[in-house]
Amino acid sequence: MLGMIKQWSYSRLQAFEKCPLRAKYAYLDKIPEPERPLPKGKAEHANDRGSRIHTLAEGYSLGKISEVPHELRFFAPELERLRTLVARCKASLEGEWAFNEEWVPVSWFAENVWGRVKLDAFVQWTREEVIVVDYKTGKRYGNEFMHTEQCQLYALSAVLRYPNVETVYVELWYPDLDELYSTQYTRKQILARLRGWETRARRMTQATEFKPNANLFSCQWCPYNPRLGGHCEYAVNVGQQPKVIVA
Ligand code: SF4
Repeated sequence: MLGMIKQWSYSRLQAFEKCPLRAKYAYLDKIPEPERPLPKGKAEHANDRGSRIHTLAEGYSLGKISEVPHELRFFAPELERLRTLVARCKASLEGEWAFNEEWVPVSWFAENVWGRVKLDAFVQWTREEVIVVDYKTGKRYGNEFMHTEQCQLYALSAVLRYPNVETVYVELWYPDLDELYSTQYTRKQILARLRGWETRARRMTQATEFKPNANLFSCQWCPYNPRLGGHCEYAVNVGQQPKVIVA
């Protein structure tokens, strides 16, 4: 039985697990995030830059851009290989994978869609081996746990979607850092994690109340924090006491 937020993705889960009220504002009330001023000395926001770099990587891999963009220069050999694989129909870009509540693949906008996973590149290496690539702009340090969880979700989605696949390699490309993190999962290893993901996803998609989880960590970069232009009355900032919540 689904609750009020009917679809989940990794970013939705993250928001919900940090603060259910934040997820409600974003995915139920659909309150737009307020515009933020640019950080000092920056010409664009990190998210905008990330999207721009993803578009550049896609453009190059599809052969629409002839030179490797400067922002992706450290990954020139990898992008060259990807471009060749795309041209040979061994790789696809910007995959949109969706599942219903039984983890059966469905189309992205299917009525019964429950979970969604977006990936940057997918390589069918052999009949039993595939590679998922995710571009990661910005820093890695401090985000390792989150990035590892994403690797798991990619691998899980791949084995559910492709019944022949026995091994999934997940590569995180960090173009700003000249670092490539690679990990691999067997079908058995990753399927053993399915119940854990299911429990988390159900907690969110069956929720009918969304209490604030107000604390410095959750509120610090929450777009609904009045410090960042939002409206949330429960926000906690340095030097403030959390507001008492009456049940
Ligand atoms: S400001 Fe804090 S309490 Fe309010 S929605 Fe954001 S994280 Fe939750």
